[in-house]
Amino acid sequence: MDAIRTSGLTKYYGRTRGVEHIDLAVGQGDFFGFIGPNGAGKSTFIRTLLGLIRPSSGQGEIFGLDVTKDREKVLKRVGYLPSETAFWPGMRVKDILKLSADLRRKDCGAVAGQLCERLRLDAGRKADELSLGGRKKAAIVCALQHEPDLLILDEPTSGLDPLIQREFFALLRERSDRGATIFLSSHILSEVQQNCAHAAIIRDGSVIASGSMQDLARTGARRVSVLGRVELDALSGVRDLQTTSAGLDFLYSGDMRELLTALAGGDVRDVTISEPALEDVFLHYYGKGDGKP
Ligand code: ADP
Repeated sequence: MDAIRTSGLTKYYGRTRGVEHIDLAVGQGDFFGFIGPNGAGKSTFIRTLLGLIRPSSGQGEIFGLDVTKDREKVLKRVGYLPSETAFWPGMRVKDILKLSADLRRKDCGAVAGQLCERLRLDAGRKADELSLGGRKKAAIVCALQHEPDLLILDEPTSGLDPLIQREFFALLRERSDRGATIFLSSHILSEVQQNCAHAAIIRDGSVIASGSMQDLARTGARRVSVLGRVELDALSGVRDLQTTSAGLDFLYSGDMRELLTALAGGDVRDVTISEPALEDVFLHYYGKGDGKP
């Protein structure tokens, strides 16, 4: 049984597209990245999964339970970090954490204490007096303190300074090693690349690619660096072309024989053809078709 499985999951806000026909499976114990630019539909997908908004069509399951019909049971097994956090005014962090634990009928005091210490969060402070990063930390502790089987984290690192981000990912890896499933949405490619085993790329409300991080990097495109001069006008499949006085560099997804013919006809002193970096892969996915970045 998968931790998350959706089929044809679609959400429209009136006539505005939230997400469209998302088929996604996340295995138990996976560390999964959900990556896409702002407005792509990440939060909509997550909020539909949590039963916070109803899908317009399609289904979602968490641990085999329907996210709409079995919402209460689903939420018992999930820790959720929303992209934006709002707390009751005037409450101290420790009271918020206690209230959140009480709602789950669990004593989470010891774990909460450890989490606050590791994230350097002063639980005695009033939440609405904290910085953005401080409020984010409080929300992280709320999501993690009951040690859920599935963590759904929507843009968790925004507002956290780099040292705390590192500690946060160390915490997530420990949870993952102990069997928890982690689903993390992000628009920051490097953090998904460094931490996730699998990922899905979402664009304009649809998943345009998913798989292991290695598979996602295999697009067939190649990064080509040429020392010298070569005529590229006749080639199709050249992207991200950069020229310098010494040569040129581009991403190539066309016919390899045509590229080699062009290189052979040029004034080329050296050439490197390599696997593209994940940034290039993104350019490949996001640059498709309509000229959008
Ligand atoms: P992301 O989390 O990737 O930034 P969102 O899921 O927030 O993307 O947004 C996806 C699309 O749905 C956007 O076009 C956004 O404007 C729209 N949208 C999100 N929430 C609402 C809402 N409550 N009402 C109307 N449109 C919304």
